[in-house]
Amino acid sequence: MKYQSNNFFIERIKAQNLAKRFGTPIYCYSYEKLKKNIIKFINNFKSFNPLVCFSVKANSNVNLLREIKKFNFGADVVSVGEMMKVLKAGFNPRKIVFSGVGKTSEELSYAINKNILLINIESEEELIEVEKIAKKKRKVVDIGIRLNPNTDAKTLKKISTGKKENKFGVTEKAFFNLLNYSKKSKYLNLKCLSVHIGSQITSYKPYEKTLGIIKKIIHKSNYKFQYIDLGGGMGITYDNEKKLNYKKYNNSIKNFLKKNKTKIIFEPGRSIIGDTGILISKVIYIKKTQNKDFIILDSGMNDLIRPALYGSKHKIIPLKRISNSSNKNYEFVGPICESTDKFLNIKKFQKLKKNDLIAICDVGAYGMSLSSNYNVRAKPIEILIKGSKVSIIKKRQRLNDII
Ligand SMILES: *Cc1c(COP(=O)(O)O)cnc(C)c1O
Repeated sequence: MKYQSNNFFIERIKAQNLAKRFGTPIYCYSYEKLKKNIIKFINNFKSFNPLVCFSVKANSNVNLLREIKKFNFGADVVSVGEMMKVLKAGFNPRKIVFSGVGKTSEELSYAINKNILLINIESEEELIEVEKIAKKKRKVVDIGIRLNPNTDAKTLKKISTGKKENKFGVTEKAFFNLLNYSKKSKYLNLKCLSVHIGSQITSYKPYEKTLGIIKKIIHKSNYKFQYIDLGGGMGITYDNEKKLNYKKYNNSIKNFLKKNKTKIIFEPGRSIIGDTGILISKVIYIKKTQNKDFIILDSGMNDLIRPALYGSKHKIIPLKRISNSSNKNYEFVGPICESTDKFLNIKKFQKLKKNDLIAICDVGAYGMSLSSNYNVRAKPIEILIKGSKVSIIKKRQRLNDII
């Protein structure tokens, strides 16, 4: 994705032409970028050949899932809906892990019927529920237990999941109780210790610390785990965040594996899909005020909620570059009736006018998957670019259908 003589291109396609053809807003993804991310991720850890389960909540477009599956990926799902989607996309059930603190008995029952690889248990009551269902079905169910390692992932507070005040996973003490319970159960086969400490993590240190805690637990329990599921959380560069040092993370894991022979599972979402997508949007109006100009876009927080929800910053770029720059502060906002419906303040930008086209960058993860119909707005179309091929991978929602 780059400019060619001042026009923004996604692979061989001029972004402005997409807007002409499909209207705006558009979620637009690059296949080449996705492929690169996947290959890079695999190469970072190739010495121990992990099972990589794409975290579906980052992006659950069935057609994108189909592409991801082709690289032998598994899937990490957090609801029966996501599980049905990955099964439809052709994922092997033996590569599906099921996470989440609130799996209902219907969801657990569905997962058990499909013989998925692992149900990652997040509480004592859930363990008992799984055993009850397994007993009824006369089946032995493969499970993991998600540990809350009480480790600060040093990321945004709102996307931190591995501290004791977070609802995820179980404490070390509870972990041992669940482990002992599972060992005695005829219907539970404990195969995995799992963790996921948060998202948008840019330092390998919290991961290293977590590995140390896991090492101690394995030693103390003297239990042979077939899998260690290290979750996802690898950060990407939205603005000017530092890059995660994969080499050091890889080295920590290799060290860990020297004494603990086990298969590693990863559950990356953002790092696979985040920078593959842009949201193309049109300037509806420019509202001038004394201190700033509001650039009112035709996409809002219903299309992309990350800035409103986490205060996250996504770069904004013009689809056609001009040399004329504005001397006003621009505040890019959506049309939604909420003051948090804003994307970014920019001090220096080219001069914009009504109907100009822009792109909000790096929206491939937690963009469309977190979109809603708030204010009764239809969800955007999704498009995948492969070279010069343009495919509609999800139609624009029709207002009639939601009305
Ligand atoms: C959200 C989530 C992930 C993926 O996180 P990323 O930051 O997108 O890599 C992985 N595992 C679990 C259990 C999750 O909830």
